Amino acid sequence: MGYTNSSMVAYTKFSPNHSGQRTMAIDRITPHCVVGQCTAEGLGDWFAKGSTQASSNYGIDKDGCVGLYVEEKNRSWCSSSNANDQRAVTIECASDSAEPYAFQDVVYRKLIELCTDICRRNGKNKLIWFGDKDKALNYSLKSGEMILTVHRWFANKSCPGDWMYARMGDLAEKVTKALQGSDSGSGGGSGSKGTQATVLKDLSEADAIKKVGALFTADMKKSGILASVSLAQFILESGYGKSELAQNANNPFGMKCSLSGNTWSGSSWDGKSKYAKKTQEQNKDGSYDTITADFRKYPCIEDSIADHSAYLLGAMNGKKLRYDGLKGCTDYKKAVQIIKDGGYATSLTYVEKLCSIIEKWNLTQYDMKDSGGSEVIRWYRVRKSWADSKTQKGAYKILDNAKKCADQNSGYKVFDADGKVVYEPKAVEPVEKVPFLVKVSISDLNIRKGPGIGYDRVQFCPSGVYTIVAVSDGAGATKWGKLKSGIGWLSLDFVKRV
Ligand SMILES: [Zn+2]
Repeated sequence: MGYTNSSMVAYTKFSPNHSGQRTMAIDRITPHCVVGQCTAEGLGDWFAKGSTQASSNYGIDKDGCVGLYVEEKNRSWCSSSNANDQRAVTIECASDSAEPYAFQDVVYRKLIELCTDICRRNGKNKLIWFGDKDKALNYSLKSGEMILTVHRWFANKSCPGDWMYARMGDLAEKVTKALQGSDSGSGGGSGSKGTQATVLKDLSEADAIKKVGALFTADMKKSGILASVSLAQFILESGYGKSELAQNANNPFGMKCSLSGNTWSGSSWDGKSKYAKKTQEQNKDGSYDTITADFRKYPCIEDSIADHSAYLLGAMNGKKLRYDGLKGCTDYKKAVQIIKDGGYATSLTYVEKLCSIIEKWNLTQYDMKDSGGSEVIRWYRVRKSWADSKTQKGAYKILDNAKKCADQNSGYKVFDADGKVVYEPKAVEPVEKVPFLVKVSISDLNIRKGPGIGYDRVQFCPSGVYTIVAVSDGAGATKWGKLKSGIGWLSLDFVKRV
């Protein structure tokens, strides 16, 4: 059959280190660990040197970028085994530089995708992993089967490292699922555990709700918002098919299905596990706020709901919690109202809609009833920062008392039991109006790269008059001012306003 290369390749630099066309058809994939968080270019440079005497077909760099170094049709020099590399597609993956040689999430997800692509192009619909070397190497593959092998079977090496070795079964399972399944809504690397939207698809509405409702019994108590409310949103949004929450509710309730990817527009991926979402939302008075929240990318409904809860509990509106009061709320009507008032939905009938879903399906049965058992006290702590427990002024059961304490101690905030700021006294001083002019008369005033003495020094500021375009708190000065030129920041303690 004809050989092809992956269309996922974003960077190509051919290595001279290969044996020419392979003598065996492709029926193995061998993932390796690079032992370093490399870039695709860096790996390419390394393989480009004849003296390296090594190569791989593909590389996945620390950001998930796929490099091509030896075409699939050729035998790479990768696994210390001619027999293996003649029939294997080899993939070097960016990893930590010490055992267990862990991969970044983005790398692992890309590996799943790349293996799926390799199988598909080479006519395979199943990827197999046996933890046992002899079994694997002696197994006679059936048509459509591809098998995973590891470098450690052929040389005295850890490769692909214990992190990846522990996930070989998961990799095989996810690739096979992607090859055989038709569900594309769950995005790269659908989970092996957990409840997939596809599981719900064939159930009746009542059964689907029951199944999702059962997820709440233990975990949702931790999330701190009512199961009935989460579940009602889940049901409602599965009809809209728009939000991340709905992406995992995709069609389970016989509603419409129009989902594409797994990201929200305007979201950014931190390369590990989180999306930060930023949106502009309009206030009643017409002004706009920037709303930010972190999301994980989730493979199953449980995670989807847990993250949705985390969003509702953690979303900030400026410095305030967007849905303040939601945590610990035990009244579903009140909780729904808080969500609506926070701006979650613009529909005027949102509260009624959600409440009627809760009532129709008796969803309050999934709320955790207070069993009267041991009550965990959720202390409010007053500190300068959560990390700095030594600054703690006190711990309070009642939020108002904690607030009072913070009000009396400048620079202190109130944190909930999870370390989230729930109250921060308004600074007494008015916000500085910028721009303004300052005069520098001393000869040894440092310009620093940021607002604080911890930032690198750029140079001394020549005396003269400067425009300050931003003011910030920072170590070593009462206030820092940013120079209009953009070169850096000045301590405002040593300048004169003009
Ligand atoms: Zn290796």
